[in-house]
Amino acid sequence: MPIRAVLFDKDGTLLDYHLTWGPINVAAADIAAAGDHDLADRLLSLGGMDRANMITRPGSLLAAAHTVEIASAWVEAGSPLSLQDLSHRLDALFTASATGSVPIGNLDACFSALRTAGLKLGIASSDNEASIRLMLAHLGLAHHIAFVAGYDSGHGVKPGPGMALAFAAALGLQPSEIAVVGDNSHDIDMGRQAGAGLVIGVLSGTGDAATLTPIADACLSDISELPAFLAPHLGA
Ligand SMILES: [Mg+2]
Repeated sequence: MPIRAVLFDKDGTLLDYHLTWGPINVAAADIAAAGDHDLADRLLSLGGMDRANMITRPGSLLAAAHTVEIASAWVEAGSPLSLQDLSHRLDALFTASATGSVPIGNLDACFSALRTAGLKLGIASSDNEASIRLMLAHLGLAHHIAFVAGYDSGHGVKPGPGMALAFAAALGLQPSEIAVVGDNSHDIDMGRQAGAGLVIGVLSGTGDAATLTPIADACLSDISELPAFLAPHLGA
């Protein structure tokens, strides 16, 4: 089947993870620790982030989990906030921080090339939907994107197939007609479980080649390589 649509992960795929999320993760841990600096450092470390170099480990809680999973782990690790309160505060932080998004390369040029080739585009993220939409508006990219799903959009969460299946259904396509692109194994697993026609890893985020190469159909440096890579897979 030819590929007719591309579903992107957001962080590490469209946005520079470390530059965008380093400061947000520090602020999130500070909120969860409620003023206890030692606790904030422990929560950051548990999340997989090193405050000294602002780098987040591949596959770690902060790199891969959604808001409620992060809040839950931090409450269990000693945050004095309730799970509900912390989840709400973190989602508010993440949404407010969407205007600080740092894109990878020229997203407008990449999206324009893909749409000129006839492809429909969507985003499936473990962030909340409002945050994704605010990022798109802030970067002037909303007109390129036909579908947006966050962890709270009602289609399930990664690595489950729900967001990819909803993307295909929204466009009237078979799952085998979509490509899924992401920087973590949970993106690849989502695409596989949905029966996507192509599942593509990118090395621009927190995932690495050792993890992604064995499970993806292809691994690209970043999405700027996508228009050329997809050209042989498109329909007439
Ligand atoms: Mg990602």
